[in-house]
Amino acid sequence: MTAAKQICLLGGTGSIGSSTLDIIARHPEHYRLFAVSGFSRVAELATICRRHEPEYAVVPDESAGVILREALQGLNTRVLTGDDALQQIASASEVDIVVAAIVGAAGLLPALAAVRAGKRILLANKEALVMSGQLFMDEVRANGAELLPIDSEHNAIFQCLPELGTRFDSASLPQHGVQQILLTASGGPFRTFSAQTLEKVTPEQAVAHPNWSMGQKISVDSATLMNKGLELIEACWLFAVQPDQIQVVVHPQSIIHSMVSYQDGSVIAQMGNPDMRTPIAYGLAWPERIDAGVKPLDLFEVARLDFEPADEQRFACLRLAKDAFCRGGTAPAILNAANEVAVQAFLQRRIGFMQIPQLCEQALNSLEIHSAETLEHILQDDQAARVFSEHWVEQFSSVSIKAQ
Ligand code: NAD
Ligand code: MG
Repeated sequence: MTAAKQICLLGGTGSIGSSTLDIIARHPEHYRLFAVSGFSRVAELATICRRHEPEYAVVPDESAGVILREALQGLNTRVLTGDDALQQIASASEVDIVVAAIVGAAGLLPALAAVRAGKRILLANKEALVMSGQLFMDEVRANGAELLPIDSEHNAIFQCLPELGTRFDSASLPQHGVQQILLTASGGPFRTFSAQTLEKVTPEQAVAHPNWSMGQKISVDSATLMNKGLELIEACWLFAVQPDQIQVVVHPQSIIHSMVSYQDGSVIAQMGNPDMRTPIAYGLAWPERIDAGVKPLDLFEVARLDFEPADEQRFACLRLAKDAFCRGGTAPAILNAANEVAVQAFLQRRIGFMQIPQLCEQALNSLEIHSAETLEHILQDDQAARVFSEHWVEQFSSVSIKAQ
């Protein structure tokens, strides 16, 4: 029997993190948690460590480190702190598979460290790829890393494509008869809301996704359709296609997770109950399959599947993301950073829901876009967009307080 694969789980305390831990726990003979990171929920990280006894646990700073060390007394888990430690565990020689499940730009450097160490990477952290697409994919190729998407749509597309390994170039899909990628979207909780009603929606409504249970940021992104925009960019980089080779299809039941259409008229879809353990298990076991504990799909219970086009008027974020990808360079990094600030400000009730696309558009139109050939450029423009966006939010909230 081969030894259990050693897993580094970046973002272990999140939603993707807990789905991953569930699968690891189901297959102790195949997978072992070698290292795990958390950010603010130290008590949850301690529970994970007691359950899985990893070699390393990483928290952001020394004060969190002291609390975690105290909580883990008697355990062999070593507690490390800081951003460098994330890169250290992601590239450790003992690690076979890195699950990149940190949310937002904070996940970029650790994911890149895993790529540079030539690991198998299960990518949930789409923001990393959106920010640094070309550079990230070049590093994957140069270092022989194995990049497997676990975003459910991209995992579905990967499953519906011909077996071409994990790396694609611009000739791969057309050469194998692929005509188009059909990227499905649930439409989020506000799919049927009028533009006027959207002005007044609350954070509580936005995070209550009809089909998926996810972290707060991606839930808001699903409600604005920025998630679909980020996913469109993610698909362009992963599968080496252009936006016009991707059609967004709103499918409210979230049973079909995406499709691939071929020249001969065939359309291949991947279906299943909306449960992230399916794509995570697929990524861990690929090219084999393992039990993921997911409820089997009952088509009679589902009964019907609906489809409609996405409305880029009411949900401008989708249009902005396509636009950012076409502008190229650091435009997607700028969009991503502005969106992260906007989502946070919306969750804190400092701006309304419709200010999210407004701020993103302002950032894209106001900031200088540079070439994204170096990490320095990308990180500089990410930072510039955050400064711009924080300022925008401050101005907006002070004006709206005065108006009250
Ligand atoms: P989450 O908010 O539940 O968890 C985020 C994780 O990142 C936590 O472990 C947190 O501790 C860590 N983290 C947050 N800020 C950090 C920082 N500054 N530095 C280091 N660590 C930090 O989010 P989630 O829903 O699990 O999503 C994680 C990623 O996966 C996101 O990029 C999301 O877009 C993607 N994703 C999620 C789902 C889903 O179903 N939840 C589906 C597809 C893709
Ligand atoms: Mg998705």
